[in-house]
Amino acid sequence: SATMPPTQKAKPAPVAAIEVSHPERVMDASTGVTKLDLVRYYERVGPLMMPHLKGRPTSLMRTPDGVAGEHFFQKHLQTREMAGIVQLPQSLDPEHPPLLSIASIQGLLQAAQFNVVEFHTWNAQRDKILRPDRMTFDLDPGEGVPWSAVQEGAELVRVLLQELGLPAFLKTSGGKGLHVEVPIQRRHDWDTVKGFSKAIVQHLAETIAQRFVAKSGPSNRKGKIFVDYLRNGWGATTVSAWSARARPGMGVSVPIEWAELDRISSGAHWSITSVEERFRKGNAPWDGYSAAAVSITAAMKQLGYS
Ligand code: ATP
Ligand code: MN
Ligand code: MN
Repeated sequence: SATMPPTQKAKPAPVAAIEVSHPERVMDASTGVTKLDLVRYYERVGPLMMPHLKGRPTSLMRTPDGVAGEHFFQKHLQTREMAGIVQLPQSLDPEHPPLLSIASIQGLLQAAQFNVVEFHTWNAQRDKILRPDRMTFDLDPGEGVPWSAVQEGAELVRVLLQELGLPAFLKTSGGKGLHVEVPIQRRHDWDTVKGFSKAIVQHLAETIAQRFVAKSGPSNRKGKIFVDYLRNGWGATTVSAWSARARPGMGVSVPIEWAELDRISSGAHWSITSVEERFRKGNAPWDGYSAAAVSITAAMKQLGYS
């Protein structure tokens, strides 16, 4: 395709300990970001990103023909062994090939070398896979929803969570919307946590029906925000903090403070070409994340969910 220079001229470029083939291949025509830029991005962001990947089953989204080309979600390693990517015990998900997890920055780079642009993680960690350690609320604005309404919508989600005694951490999605993560203690099973997250979203949609819907689908969403609770099921994933997005412009998902939300221009406020200045702030907006985890027992009771 037009975005791919002839490959014969490609010289492998060493980054850290790996060789990048076709380093000059353009991944995103709109920015000119190359495969080498992508690998270098993951090399620099690796130290910030690893805490978000550690121990979590992870799906990889590959775009061998650049971000405008076909997208492939990959939950399992194919035959190839990859340094820094571990296969999780098959017993975690007996019906399927082994899940994978990124174990080190080396694994991030190896994946990028195989045209992986996005990294998506589960809401549970390998050492307690049957007990999710977070809920994810994925704010998806429907057609015609101005950004200001997305900002207000996120604040309203936060208020409800606060009322329920639940902590809430915010990140840009790198795309159109925002993601709210709620760290929870690992006491309840997937059905309970997903069911509760659905009850929270239904409560929002019932009490603030002019802004929120609890049903997916473009026609339901028109002019409203779908707060997607479907990210909370077994095997469901959400893009990791600091992952680049396989979309034109290559946005990046970035943890932010609630107080910053006013100053954020969109879910793609930062992109792979602009995010560098943000590295200084790093994960500071999510300081205290793990310590903030609460049991959802009291919140479920308060909402009348059981
Ligand atoms: P945006 O802010 O633009 O909505 P997003 O990452 O939230 O960006 P969604 O379409 O809302 O995008 O999807 C949320 C998450 O659901 C994705 O990050 C991904 O992990 C998961 N997902 C969506 N579609 C698929 C799919 N076809 N296969 C696997 N996972 C998917
Ligand atoms: Mn979304
Ligand atoms: Mn969604």
